[in-house]
Amino acid sequence: METEAKTGGIWIYAQTQGEKLHPVVYELLGVGRRLADELSCPLGAMLADCREALVEELFEYGADEVCIFEHSLLSQYSTDGYTKAVEQLVRERQPFALLIGGTDQGRDLAPRAAARIKTGLTVDCIEFKIEGKHTLCQIRPAFGSRLMAEIVTVGNTVSMCTVRPGMFAPAVSVAGRRGKLWHCSLELLPSEIRTRVVESEPEEYEHRDLACARVVVAGGMGVGGREGFELLDKLSKHLGGVTGGTRPAAANGWISHEKMIGQTGRIIAPELYIACGISGAVQHMLGVGGAKCVVAINSNPDAPIFETADYGIVADYRQFIPKLIEELE
Ligand SMILES: Cc1cc2nc3c(=O)[nH]c(=O)nc-3n(C[C@H](O)[C@H](O)[C@H](O)COP(=O)(O)OP(=O)(O)OC[C@H]3O[C@@H](n4cnc5c(N)ncnc54)[C@H](O)[C@@H]3O)c2cc1C
Repeated sequence: METEAKTGGIWIYAQTQGEKLHPVVYELLGVGRRLADELSCPLGAMLADCREALVEELFEYGADEVCIFEHSLLSQYSTDGYTKAVEQLVRERQPFALLIGGTDQGRDLAPRAAARIKTGLTVDCIEFKIEGKHTLCQIRPAFGSRLMAEIVTVGNTVSMCTVRPGMFAPAVSVAGRRGKLWHCSLELLPSEIRTRVVESEPEEYEHRDLACARVVVAGGMGVGGREGFELLDKLSKHLGGVTGGTRPAAANGWISHEKMIGQTGRIIAPELYIACGISGAVQHMLGVGGAKCVVAINSNPDAPIFETADYGIVADYRQFIPKLIEELE
């Protein structure tokens, strides 16, 4: 069954991070532009949090249209408020597809919004293709990455999906490129937002989003405890990365659960993945399939991780990492 590409085009959700666009937005603009060109339809970007200063940037990175919401209750993210904004966008602009970054915020917003709009949601997409004239095929790993599922949203509704960060090349900026700006008004009452932000603090280094990190240093049971993870944190900081770990490391409380990588944890796609004291169990490695370069440090030369690593270092991490940090310093 073919869905008609509506004139509403491809839309992306432009998440912000402080005063800037979130890095995943440039990747969404990259893939969104490609799809819009293939379908000969416009590319739109939804900016929910009233940051007009970012509109020009969205145009320069490929958006033909930007829809900005102007409501004081949207100046800060809330699931309820932003769900209503997405619902409004879909009603007004009738997108053919809406792409949302698979960040912490995107993974919170997308299922709620999809349920509200009464459409399906394909999570963790790593590729898209256009089939026939108007069918968007959303591709994501399934059954523990043993196969790639090709999912099509049927019916007269928006194809909604989250996109795995790090999978698509960011869009390239064209200085001076302009598009059409829509100001969207929204009826939203304070009572509709059921959560209240009591206090906010700048993100601690260790809570940065693992899914978007360019460098991840991860530890497993071989790290032996929290002190070992402090050493890994030190290396992460030197490399501008984020620390993660295996399920047993999380189960032992050496890292928080949101830092757990693998089949039942986070799926990551960094440029560089450094695995310390990790055996390389299939359930863990399913989470790092998108890593461009895997470096394994393990004291056991027969550890299975060496079969998939690009670089293998047979060493005790407690001796190797301090030397590496020394070199970096
Ligand atoms: C249904 C299911 C889902 C699962 N989901 C996940 C998941 O999402 N993520 C996940 O990670 N696991 C998951 N697991 C668990 C997984 O099967 C493995 O048990 C786990 O990944 C192993 O963790 P590890 O590598 O930290 O520990 P181990 O397998 O114990 O490996 C420790 C490694 O450290 C090395 N080592 C020891 N000392 C040192 C040292 N000083 N220096 C360097 N190397 C050293 C050892 O040689 C060894 O290779 C799942 C399991 C099941 C059944």
